[in-house]
Amino acid sequence: MKKSVIVAPGSGAVRHDMSLTVVDRVKSATRQFSKSIQTMSVSEQLQRELLDKAIEVAKNAYAPYSKYPVGACLQCADGTRFTGCNVENASYGLTNCAERTAMFKAVSEGHRDHAMIAIVTLDGGLPCAACRQVMREFNKDMIVICGYTDGRVNRVFTLEELLPHSFGPENLEALQ
Ligand SMILES: [Zn+2]
Repeated sequence: MKKSVIVAPGSGAVRHDMSLTVVDRVKSATRQFSKSIQTMSVSEQLQRELLDKAIEVAKNAYAPYSKYPVGACLQCADGTRFTGCNVENASYGLTNCAERTAMFKAVSEGHRDHAMIAIVTLDGGLPCAACRQVMREFNKDMIVICGYTDGRVNRVFTLEELLPHSFGPENLEALQ
């Protein structure tokens, strides 16, 4: 089995910037530590399985305008998985991201218990703000695994890290 490589975005630049203050370096080290905790919360085997499915479905991406294929694999609490790719449109605004394709497929099949999602792109990119908000609708503690289409892991996040201080269904329930 290929071993995953965990790389924090920009970490190389941080390590080699000697102009950083001691406080900055401590903050950087703390971020690295919390990252390793998050990474450990999803086994390497499970990350591998979800990333492999995301890589496979990224081949179906319809991305003639951005040339930025994306694949996603969502795993629900009961282990059921749904994949999705980005589907662009000549009008641009109607484009649907891979993450939302996977989540909408799951919801339309009766699965709202979204536990984690793996996303692959050419550059290890993170989900857009719209997708983060849709993730938030179904599980504010969702795990988000960001990887590359060549199989490497970029970083594993909690949704709270990607969308802090968020708005969600509870805000509206409080008014009932
Ligand atoms: Zn998106």
